[in-house]
Amino acid sequence: MEENNTYTELSALGEFALIEHLTKDIQLKNASTLKGVGDDAALLNYGSKKILVSTDLLIQDIHFDLVYTPLTHLGYKAVAVNVSDICAMNGAAKQITVSIAVSNHFSVEGLDELYAGIYLACEQYGIDLIGGDTCSSKSGLYISVTVLGEVDEKSITYRHTAKENQLICVSGNLGAAYMGLQLLEREKRVFTGQKDAPQPDFAGYEYILERQLRPEARVGVVELLRGKNLTPTAMIDVSDGLSSDILQVCKASKIGCNLYEDKIPIDYQTFKMAEELNMNATVCALSGGEDYELLFTLPIDKHELIATCEDIKIIGHTTQASEGCHLITGDGNSFELKADSNL
Ligand code: ADP
Ligand code: MG
Repeated sequence: MEENNTYTELSALGEFALIEHLTKDIQLKNASTLKGVGDDAALLNYGSKKILVSTDLLIQDIHFDLVYTPLTHLGYKAVAVNVSDICAMNGAAKQITVSIAVSNHFSVEGLDELYAGIYLACEQYGIDLIGGDTCSSKSGLYISVTVLGEVDEKSITYRHTAKENQLICVSGNLGAAYMGLQLLEREKRVFTGQKDAPQPDFAGYEYILERQLRPEARVGVVELLRGKNLTPTAMIDVSDGLSSDILQVCKASKIGCNLYEDKIPIDYQTFKMAEELNMNATVCALSGGEDYELLFTLPIDKHELIATCEDIKIIGHTTQASEGCHLITGDGNSFELKADSNL
């Protein structure tokens, strides 16, 4: 490849194909590595304990914009999104490490704010900060958080274990974080460059802003399911968007799915913001991402039990792989689901 100087652009692969390309030849060497790349977290076997490990990297101006992101919220979010990956395996987060690279534009006070958010999240989720690394960057802030968690062997929920003819369920509501981001971006465009610009008025949109700036991991949903003796057959957290994430589960489990547009839970503020921006709220729920809700499958006979869980909605069912993955609209039309993931 290098001899004739041809290089493949990253955009030719996209994020998921790139990860597959980089990791396809991994051969696990240790019996203690039960699951490596390919799920929300890796799973390690240390005697009676099964350990979960997951990591996420947040980069200034790629994942967050400090024009409208308070550092305290950023610290909280960096922890919450990692805890969410442990929830997606049906586990409990216990420890984190935090590594930062920071340019000399930042002050100690700024980093104190970041860490106030990190420590707040540690309190909220009952986890210990046990280490990390600190170094300088040429420009901007980089935050890498690794989380460790634990899970009972019988409770582990992978992405690849959903079966045909099962219920597809989701917690909370979808599309809110994306609408919050759109609102922040709009206000930034309006106010950037204006001298003495008044404070933007976010009244009536507090919920979608919070969903974007300070998301929560759905620890309560994991506990609720455990309390009802419900172990999902497969689970993922909605970080990339409903469409992309259900496709991950279907691909890994070698099944298809039908999702029903009118069953997808969408908050009133999300609808209102979508309308104001001339966007389709369903599209926002499908493609928005960063909701950190839990998306999971259950055997069909759990229908009545799950109906008693207020914050969980059945949004579709799984099918044979040959039927593909579709969204059925309110008027009965069927559209193939697509993942619009960008690097
Ligand atoms: P999530 O959205 O749940 O954080 P990702 O889509 O980022 O998951 O990653 C999918 C899988 O690929 C995970 O198992 C992750 O650990 C693995 N992965 C992602 N990037 C890399 C990489 N550069 N090298 C090795 N494994 C990776
Ligand atoms: Mg995940």
